[in-house]
Amino acid sequence: MKKSYFVLSALALILSLPQIALADPRFRRPINTTLSPAISAYYDHLSGTGLRTYSCSSNTTYNSHAGTDFRASVSTLIYASAQGGLYYRYNSCPTYGYAGSTCGGGYGNHAKIDHEGNMTDGQGWVTVYAHMKRDTVVWPMSVLCGGSIGQTGSSGNSTGPHLHFEVKKYSYPNNDPYSGSCSHATTWWTYQGANGIPGTQCQQL
Ligand SMILES: [Zn+2]
Repeated sequence: MKKSYFVLSALALILSLPQIALADPRFRRPINTTLSPAISAYYDHLSGTGLRTYSCSSNTTYNSHAGTDFRASVSTLIYASAQGGLYYRYNSCPTYGYAGSTCGGGYGNHAKIDHEGNMTDGQGWVTVYAHMKRDTVVWPMSVLCGGSIGQTGSSGNSTGPHLHFEVKKYSYPNNDPYSGSCSHATTWWTYQGANGIPGTQCQQL
């Protein structure tokens, strides 16, 4: 009886501890360069005209584009946008793909990072890094924010060297991390400067 009382007391103590709320992850720009026009979310996909259309044709991304494109020359280093577990990679597409290529599911060589360790329950945050150079996608089990995870290429469904970056949250499809009229009330970047360009500083944990 004494023993079971002790166990119950211990259980009650654990249950009465305050719940520790994990802060939602915020992401750094996963590449250091900003070639112009560099980032699709504010320059959009209008052939480099620099125009904002923001047509909101999808409820979570600009012009139905499932993520953010960062223009960069081949072999530019790509960094983990937040700490997490690298749980998937595809590494065997040619560095240069073409429009309509299905190699790597269209993503070409790519990596996926789970930022909460529970991707399979559909509750986590995941980032995707696509169109990498062949055989550059690294394979650590875990990465810190800012850790190098590969190099840019143009593999898969891509017509020019760039990094395609996506954030997935919960069971939603691909999301744009920007705040704004077509996106979220709160930015998912750690920082947004002029023209919404995200910063390269990591989230303070
Ligand atoms: Zn893209």
